[in-house]
Amino acid sequence: MKAFELHEARSVEDAVALLGKYNASAKIIAGGSDLLGMMKDQITGPSLPYPEHLVDVSAIPEFATINRVSDGLRVGAGVTLADLEASSDVNAAWSLLAQAAASAASPLIRNFGTLGGNINQRPRCWYFRGTQFNDCYKRGGDFCFAVTGKNAYHAIIGGELCYFVHPSDTATALVAMNASAKLAGPDGQRTVPFEEYFVGPREDVLRENVLKPGEVLVEVLIPTPPANTRSAWIKVKSRQVYDFAVASVAVAFTEENGTWKDGRIVLGGVAPKPYRATGVEEALQGKSITDNIDNAVQRLTSAARPMSDNAYKVTLAEALIKQAILKALA
Ligand SMILES: Cc1cc2nc3c(=O)[nH]c(=O)nc-3n(C[C@H](O)[C@H](O)[C@H](O)COP(=O)(O)OP(=O)(O)OC[C@H]3O[C@@H](n4cnc5c(N)ncnc54)[C@H](O)[C@@H]3O)c2cc1C
Ligand code: SF4
Repeated sequence: MKAFELHEARSVEDAVALLGKYNASAKIIAGGSDLLGMMKDQITGPSLPYPEHLVDVSAIPEFATINRVSDGLRVGAGVTLADLEASSDVNAAWSLLAQAAASAASPLIRNFGTLGGNINQRPRCWYFRGTQFNDCYKRGGDFCFAVTGKNAYHAIIGGELCYFVHPSDTATALVAMNASAKLAGPDGQRTVPFEEYFVGPREDVLRENVLKPGEVLVEVLIPTPPANTRSAWIKVKSRQVYDFAVASVAVAFTEENGTWKDGRIVLGGVAPKPYRATGVEEALQGKSITDNIDNAVQRLTSAARPMSDNAYKVTLAEALIKQAILKALA
């Protein structure tokens, strides 16, 4: 690994000031499970410089807190995935997040990998992470190796130029729970719903989220779900030990006598950002769920544009949506 300077931030203001001071040569580091892997492998490219300065946010006190508030739950960006999984507060009404965190990575990584790092981790496309592919679009080059290469685990929806799938399990759950991100930066603080937080390659192929230079994710705000909300999380992996999602789904909805009232169906592992299956939601709106679920999930077929090796993901995602909704109803 090449040398870098480590700067410990003691407060959010400190982190923002350090990021401003070192600009493009600085990166935020929390647990380091994602960032240090890329640095060790020297994954760089025309628009992906090797970071010379790391701003460590892991000692910021408010980053490590979970607080129940009158209208929901506030989770600091530095809370580990293991703490999310074990928290009685998170499990009380926001268990989708606990389940998603528990399904990510291995126990070792969950012990030091943080929520902020999980949400903001970089793509896992094997070309992006491969040392010999530094001219891929996402690294600032002019080629996508997945189009003519091996793309069994790539996107079936929302790809353009770049076809990676967003790797974060917690991101999928947070969009389903209508959560928001509180950000701090040189221009102050702002709050962004997670549905608008992730950026696909159509908007900007070089980044995956709306974070501006010098901005930090401070905490996640999750509203209290409406009374009688039903929810379920399912993740399919190709290796059962631990692995990223081949496809996953988070559903959170309300129903009355078996009729769909309101809710969200969000897929992971199928698109460059968590994919909200609004077509399926619309097809269920005001209708008997069990009578209409088979037809409703087929809305995904018209939205999907599979690549040469991944058409199986369309059928898989449709089956997962049905399975998750029936699981939530059971
Ligand atoms: C072997 C392995 C298997 C894995 N499997 C899964 C899986 O199945 N599902 C899954 O979801 N994830 C998986 N992961 C990813 C893992 O969960 C993440 O690496 C971890 O959560 C990242 O947290 P961290 O604190 O270590 O992040 P870091 O490595 O410190 O940071 C990751 C990225 O986020 C940025 N960042 C960190 N904190 C902030 C912040 N507060 N504000 C803005 N940017 C920030 C960093 O700059 C960096 O770019 C896996 C990782 C490994 C190594
Ligand atoms: S899918 Fe994206 S990250 Fe992967 S090779 Fe293509 S451009 Fe690069």
